[in-house]
Amino acid sequence: MKKIPQVMSTLGCAVATALVAMAADAAVLPDTQTQSSWYQDGATALAAKVAQARNTGAAKNIIFFVGDGMGVSTLTAARIYQGQQAGQTGEENRLSFETFPYSALSKTYSVNQQTPDSAPTMTAMITGVKTEDGMLSVSADSIRGNCLSSKGNELKTALELAEDLGKSTGIISTARITHATPAATYAHSPERDWEADGNLSAEAVANGCHDIAYQLVNDAPGDGLEVALGGGRSYFLPNTVTDGEGAKGKRKDGNDLTAKWTENFTNAAYVWNQEQFDAIDVAGTDHLLGLFEPSHMQYEADRSDDSAGEPSLAEMTSKAIDLLAKNDKGYFLMVEGGRIDHAHHAGNAARALEDTVALSDAVQAALGKVNLEDTLIIVSADHSHTFTIAGYPARGNPILGLVHEPNDEAIDTDAATAADGLPYTTLGYANGPGAKNGARVDLAGVDTTDVDFMQQAQVPMGSETHAAEDVAIYATGPGAYLFQGSVEQNVIFHVMNQAGALGGSKY
Ligand SMILES: [Zn+2]
Repeated sequence: MKKIPQVMSTLGCAVATALVAMAADAAVLPDTQTQSSWYQDGATALAAKVAQARNTGAAKNIIFFVGDGMGVSTLTAARIYQGQQAGQTGEENRLSFETFPYSALSKTYSVNQQTPDSAPTMTAMITGVKTEDGMLSVSADSIRGNCLSSKGNELKTALELAEDLGKSTGIISTARITHATPAATYAHSPERDWEADGNLSAEAVANGCHDIAYQLVNDAPGDGLEVALGGGRSYFLPNTVTDGEGAKGKRKDGNDLTAKWTENFTNAAYVWNQEQFDAIDVAGTDHLLGLFEPSHMQYEADRSDDSAGEPSLAEMTSKAIDLLAKNDKGYFLMVEGGRIDHAHHAGNAARALEDTVALSDAVQAALGKVNLEDTLIIVSADHSHTFTIAGYPARGNPILGLVHEPNDEAIDTDAATAADGLPYTTLGYANGPGAKNGARVDLAGVDTTDVDFMQQAQVPMGSETHAAEDVAIYATGPGAYLFQGSVEQNVIFHVMNQAGALGGSKY
């Protein structure tokens, strides 16, 4: 007998129903089938689906998790990675949100590109309208990089609608909080790269467009965001200032936006390291700005090396929910795992998988804090990457390792070889920095599980690219049942608008 773990059953309430069904099956099916744990776990899962009730109630709170670049292959590999870290074979594992009762596929193309970037995709998800690449919450009637063309074409976001209703709002990202995904929730810009004033064109300055960091602090919707946590400190500090980690500010206008934050809002706090973050008095703080790196925050795999210390995505999510939940009217929170994307661009699967697990942990932390009777949780991605899981590795073969095929009850000790006679990894990229002109490098003797290993790729490019296939949406809580089948990416906004009664259409 193979010592391979079966799918773990977490659906206890459905067991009785499943047993009744299997008693019926036993009349027509052989014992070897009905007594298989695969068969029984599947029956239990189906019984749970039959017993499932739709929550058509109101979503007082909405938490929207976005894994930047978290395509389906990333989810599969991260699920195996997390399971193997826990000593299992891995394939049977589930990321926290993979247990959610509802899911759909999301089509991610933008108005002008088959394969999009994070600006139009987050715009679609947060406003209900697809736009062109590089543009943040302004319609496709705008021209990228042209300020004047964007005037009058601003799109109102779910976060802004929540502010209008008096709800609390928050954004969290392990990338810069002025980067495309978080920025689309609160800023309006025909150019995603206008993160600090120095990035604005002369035309943008002349026509009164504000940079993204400025917009977060000075043009904030409602009474301002209650929580903004992530990287990007230098975009908020003057270029005459050196921050606590030795980096110079980028602002040429002399504005210290971290000081403006505490001036502009009541009971406001600014923190930039782990110690200050841990010391935040939630009861006495109503507006929290945390900027933990000059640029993007550390990858989860490197976070413990940071000199000033940085909170994890799960820690930021927990603290944000504590702060936002003080508001009786509810809240809207967006949480981005922003660096899954960056590790993929670098052709480095290990860090991408570690950051995907960190996002799963953040969702788990949220599940421990909220009541799913009144809180809608959505987990999706803006776009995919050219990341593949291939070959015929044996069950339980290390996901970062070379392909070893099954050998009877075991995993073959010799690595499988490709048509060029060389071994190959399970994980790879269609393009990116891991490609070579000419013959592949021989990976025999190379530790492909090292955190710095760059997977091989087919087409040589300095930076691996996004990919155009659909991404997944997972949801639980009120309104989650509205995610069904294959949808355009902008439908995500409409589910939040409907379930949260954010003030737009009744459908
Ligand atoms: Zn990207």
